[in-house]
Amino acid sequence: MGRVLVIGAGFVSTVAVKKIAMNADVFTDIMVASRTKSKCDQIAADIKNVKVQTAQVDADNVEELVRLFNTFKPDLVVNLALPYQDLHIMDACLAYGVSYLDTANYEPLDEAKYQYSWQWAYKKRFEDAGLTAILGCGFDPGVTGVYTAYAAKHHFDEIQYLDIVDCNAGDHHKAFATNFNPEINIREITQRGKYFEDGEWKETDPLSVHKPLNYPNVGPRESYLMYHEELESLTKNFPTIKRARFWMTFGQEYLTHLRVIQNIGMSRIDPIMYNGQEIVPIQFLKAVLPNPGDLGENYTGETSIGCRIRGIKDGKEMTYYVYNNCSHQAAYQETGAQGVSYTTGVPAMIGAKLFMQGVWKKPGVWNVEEFDPDPFMKELNEQGLPWHELFNIDLEL
Ligand code: NDP
Repeated sequence: MGRVLVIGAGFVSTVAVKKIAMNADVFTDIMVASRTKSKCDQIAADIKNVKVQTAQVDADNVEELVRLFNTFKPDLVVNLALPYQDLHIMDACLAYGVSYLDTANYEPLDEAKYQYSWQWAYKKRFEDAGLTAILGCGFDPGVTGVYTAYAAKHHFDEIQYLDIVDCNAGDHHKAFATNFNPEINIREITQRGKYFEDGEWKETDPLSVHKPLNYPNVGPRESYLMYHEELESLTKNFPTIKRARFWMTFGQEYLTHLRVIQNIGMSRIDPIMYNGQEIVPIQFLKAVLPNPGDLGENYTGETSIGCRIRGIKDGKEMTYYVYNNCSHQAAYQETGAQGVSYTTGVPAMIGAKLFMQGVWKKPGVWNVEEFDPDPFMKELNEQGLPWHELFNIDLEL
């Protein structure tokens, strides 16, 4: 039981704060703070059962953050701002003395390169301070790590092959839109592909490896191999893994737009001069693209994200598929946000809840798969993201 401070007031935060308010027996006091206070006020205004406090904060300013922490006195800071802010918020947590949770690993603003090493480097400082930092507690990363830990705990003696499959079979009826922050999304998708095999990382040209995969209740969708951050922690935490890959579905229309955006230079992350003013093309693009938060109302279809695993149990090879399907409309009806924000915001709340209850609490910096998966899996079923298991099926991979 304790006081939670959520930083960021975007789409994921909107869902997470609503879900936090639905668990008000655990979260005694709630504050949402972000760069634009009016967005925090909007989130707070939609919540009727408890009072949500709001504040303005620049999460890149450690002193400002510490001042805010001193006023609100949080037991946990949930970082739902952007990956660029991770280290500043972790610094502020250490300076004040409060635990931390996020959903995306640190990425420098001027370099599309994300990796855990920067945040893992904080481990000793969090340990010495007796504080917990939970990294990557969204869906992927997040639930995919919990699924893997659950499979390792209950179904396998040895996990050998892991394929994380992420399908968005939704239709938002727009020619082109991203499902979460366009800048973060496009930076992620346009980078080189990478997967882990036989102890080393292998690279591929962006979106060059693809195949159709069948998703439950969806059918076949072309799925593209790309790098995703949880591959780094999962291959470290489950050293029996021989190969780990991540696949995401994209439609032809989306890929065509993406190719044009790249070819005309609109995905550039370096500043250019325009009319005597410096602008970053991808940030300008974000300003003209549909707002991901506005996609919910007309969004039909569902997401289907899961882990396909091959390994050994009692000396025999077995396969296992654990997944969740999330309906965009059902997510919208419950929270006013579409499925991609929902599947990220709900796990962030669950991680925060387990921390508050003392279940996921240990000094240091941890990825989600390093905690007991069972209480998290139970909460997923209760908080709107039920999961399903299939055994000994053809994994297609
Ligand atoms: P949004 O862009 O919608 O929201 C980000 C929020 O952070 C905005 O309210 C923004 O303020 C605020 N913000 C940005 N910079 C600062 C700053 N310097 N100080 C204070 N506030 C700041 O993003 P999303 O909600 O889509 O995503 C939130 C996080 O979730 C991201 O880190 C994203 O990578 C992660 N994510 C993780 C997923 C997973 O499965 N693990 C999936 C999807 C997203 P303003 O409103 O003023 O712009």
